[in-house]
Amino acid sequence: MSDNATLLLMTPGPTRIPERVLHAGTRPLHHRTPEFSDALAETLDRLRPLYGTVDADILPIHGTGRAGLEAAVVNVFDPGDTVVACCNGKFGAMWADLAEIYGLRVIRVCTDWERTVDPAEVATALEGHPEARAVSVVHSETSTGALNPVSRVAEVARARGALVLVDAVSSLGGTPFRFDAWGVDVAVTSSQKCLMSSPGLAFVALSAAARAAVHRGSLPRAYLDLRSVLASLAGERPETPGTAPVMVVLQVREALRMIDEEGPGVVFARHRDMAAHVRGWAATRGLGLAGSGILERSPTLTALLLPDGVDAAAVRVAMRNRGIDIATGRGTHRTSAVRIGHLGDIRVADVERTLATLDEVLRSDDLCRATPHGA
Ligand code: PLP
Repeated sequence: MSDNATLLLMTPGPTRIPERVLHAGTRPLHHRTPEFSDALAETLDRLRPLYGTVDADILPIHGTGRAGLEAAVVNVFDPGDTVVACCNGKFGAMWADLAEIYGLRVIRVCTDWERTVDPAEVATALEGHPEARAVSVVHSETSTGALNPVSRVAEVARARGALVLVDAVSSLGGTPFRFDAWGVDVAVTSSQKCLMSSPGLAFVALSAAARAAVHRGSLPRAYLDLRSVLASLAGERPETPGTAPVMVVLQVREALRMIDEEGPGVVFARHRDMAAHVRGWAATRGLGLAGSGILERSPTLTALLLPDGVDAAAVRVAMRNRGIDIATGRGTHRTSAVRIGHLGDIRVADVERTLATLDEVLRSDDLCRATPHGA
């Protein structure tokens, strides 16, 4: 088996960290210094166009993506509030579960993992629950590869006065996101996917309405209290409460510089090319994609159905033995699909190498073909 240093990371995150980014994060730096404040300010500024916002507050959260999702819940709501949660995959369902743990009343909609979120179903739920304060939706559902129609969900939610909460963990930086134009109120992302950095830092963007909700919210909160993050950012020099994950901030700043140098439009086109490459390859081999009812697919990953009887875990091991890490499927496709990440620093050449290796693996004898799917 290849060791981790040489393994090509083709999972849908964490993904490969460019040398330049790794290097940027090796410099020891104290978090209460002008230099760190500058790095933080530059990072948040450079995120602004990727979020597609002029005015939103963009807050760093010390933790991975889930910390960002949890921060959204504990800051925006009051106990007993109702939320309509789109659950067409693992991460939508995870956010719904989180909200429930904090005592919210969660109305789960669009629970079919084979389909994209249907705005009409969200509208029906809101009609049945006019008290709902928010709708949550995952932009790129990393478990299935669905790209959910955030703008249309937001339109429906806003028409009924509900806040729009978006998980953009595996989309932001890899595909256009339009916080302002779509009318999003809270959008969460994290460092280890399209932002090409180590795990450990999340970001939460807040609209004016969400910011007001944060100040009014009455759920208990401490480490993830966004009021203290807002206060630390608003000081003479932007800082974060407590010790910041300094090295990850430095990495993300460098990654954002790289995205700016390549040009966000070029980065998004590269992601679309890689996705087209994988899907074209699958079509020529007669392989399907998970989610037969998915209307639009994320450019950042592909959940690929394996030939009948081929086990996803065995494929993953065989791929790792050949130096490439891909992920297995999720939910009903846990054993029958693999997920290939094509995001962040990944290039078409990496995709080509992955697909050539997958061809080799699918022809090889070292796969468990004994158990047909569903048996
Ligand atoms: N949301 C989405 C869409 C994700 O893909 C992930 C992780 O893969 C998460 C949330 C959870 O983030 P983390 O594992 O960084 O806590």
